Amino acid sequence: MRFGTKLLHGEKTIDKNNGAVTLPIYQSSTFHQFDIENFGEFDYGRSGNPTRNILEEEFAKLEGGKYAFAFSSGIAAISSIISIFSSGDHLIVAEDVYGGTYRAITKLFNRFNIAFTFVNTEDVNNIKKAIKSNTKAIYLETPSNPLLKITDLKSSIKLAKDNNLLTIVDNTFMSPYLQNPLILGADIVVHSATKFIGGHSDVIAGLAVTNNKQIAEEIYKIQNGFGAILSPQDCYLVSRGLKTLKIRMDESERNAIKLANWLESQEVIEKVYYPGLSYHKGYDIHKSQSFGPGAVLSFKFKNIDQTKYFLNNVKNVVVAVSLGAVETIVSYPVKMSHAAIPKDEREKLEITDTLIRVSLGIEDIEDIVEGFKTGFLNK
Ligand SMILES: *Cc1c(COP(=O)(O)O)cnc(C)c1O
Repeated sequence: MRFGTKLLHGEKTIDKNNGAVTLPIYQSSTFHQFDIENFGEFDYGRSGNPTRNILEEEFAKLEGGKYAFAFSSGIAAISSIISIFSSGDHLIVAEDVYGGTYRAITKLFNRFNIAFTFVNTEDVNNIKKAIKSNTKAIYLETPSNPLLKITDLKSSIKLAKDNNLLTIVDNTFMSPYLQNPLILGADIVVHSATKFIGGHSDVIAGLAVTNNKQIAEEIYKIQNGFGAILSPQDCYLVSRGLKTLKIRMDESERNAIKLANWLESQEVIEKVYYPGLSYHKGYDIHKSQSFGPGAVLSFKFKNIDQTKYFLNNVKNVVVAVSLGAVETIVSYPVKMSHAAIPKDEREKLEITDTLIRVSLGIEDIEDIVEGFKTGFLNK
């Protein structure tokens, strides 16, 4: 069965009891035990819920994995994954990780004596150099946010395996439709399901997937023990969004390719960052490890006045935090996703105040281009 069909006809998608074609919402916190000697599959809603279980089982297959876990947000998924490590452990993290991941690491997990080294993972040698005797994992995000830097997954995973380290990949920007790190050998994939997976700007959710039973047991201990679970209602919204992942992604990606090429030719633009442009630094590597460039791009204006004018005047889009929705979302990283990263750190990463990130939606591209033009000072 191919990906688009799997989204609609997974094994569990039809209710065996009554034929319902959508995910039933089991809004129950507890479950009656018919036999006190032998408990049923479910006992308490934090530990397990039928709605969540079905979503998790179906999602695991989409990522090419065996075990999935649904969390109350992307950051809850990421924090729960980091929580499988212990005091004294060291992790190597891509330096331009999602701002909230950076914040969780530097403001929360560092208090529990888990050490982190941030490196530019575009060059696998930088990862190699950062390995210490207590290093336990490499945490990657490719394409990265907001400059769409590419990390070579195959050579990073090989390096990790040679050194007995786990590889964790935040696959939010690609979704399981466009990139499957587990199939390339990664150990854990995390997602903010708030983005392309949910796809409709109506739910905050996270997912983590693995192929390894032992790792799955560790993640389950945290999911149940820390308790950042996804509610049955929100599981339903994620499941509902997932059905159209393929067609949304296809359309958004087509729009992204068109917008990237159009931006390229505009006088006011200094630079466009998009892995679908053949001169993009990671173009070949990205092509070799994914099924497409995706729907997120960034660009820099030549000056700050134009940048501010654009943000206040652009039309036919949403100016907001977030990405991966049916609406095109224009974000301003220095004030939004990357506000948690100190200014000098940000500038080192080339995240300047003239940088704009765009997550393409499924509008007609002509309207997006026209809406962008209204944000240009010299039209
Ligand atoms: C949004 C995002 C997150 C955090 O997810 P939430 O659902 O907002 O908690 C993590 N990683 C990436 C790449 C994201 O874009």
